[in-house]
Amino acid sequence: MTSNNTPLDLDAIEARANAAEDGWTVLISEADPHRFEIHGDGPTHVAVFGGNPDDAFASYPVRENAVFAAHAREDVPALLAEVRRLRDELAGQRPDILREVADICDEAGANYTAKAFNDHATGAYELMERFQRKANEAEYLATPCDFVACEPGGEPCSTHERLMAHAEGEHELCAPDCGLAPAALPSV
Ligand SMILES: [Zn+2]
Ligand SMILES: [Zn+2]
Repeated sequence: MTSNNTPLDLDAIEARANAAEDGWTVLISEADPHRFEIHGDGPTHVAVFGGNPDDAFASYPVRENAVFAAHAREDVPALLAEVRRLRDELAGQRPDILREVADICDEAGANYTAKAFNDHATGAYELMERFQRKANEAEYLATPCDFVACEPGGEPCSTHERLMAHAEGEHELCAPDCGLAPAALPSV
């Protein structure tokens, strides 16, 4: 058993699954009802469970063991796809959650300011900025690249260039509704 503290290496699990033969099914031999063979797409069987008709086998779920192993061929890739889907979904929600927390810190700052608790207000606004930075980082990571992807260690794609500029307070590349558009020019 792997410990709960060890992060799952999904790529390693996927590589093991992809390397194995496809199409596993359990075949039961009429000659030997205690023997369960798992067959794949290839010419020879993948595994044998049980074997000799022995009373010892009667107390073990030999057939269930074989069925479990055979289903792993489809279940493991299906579980991998679901874990990846849920991780993406969670990563996509993170920026919104962090922005919500930043907004609450902003409210706290306004409340402290109204009561002239200026040190408290400063603390609340510092927290707000930290959560805003974390939200920007989370959005950067969760957003897929443009058609022309980021160069590893080089030029960012146009999507990530825009997100980086936005995080640094420059909104020329942002949509008008990014929420942090520059203040209106002073009227002359
Ligand atoms: Zn990119
Ligand atoms: Zn912006």
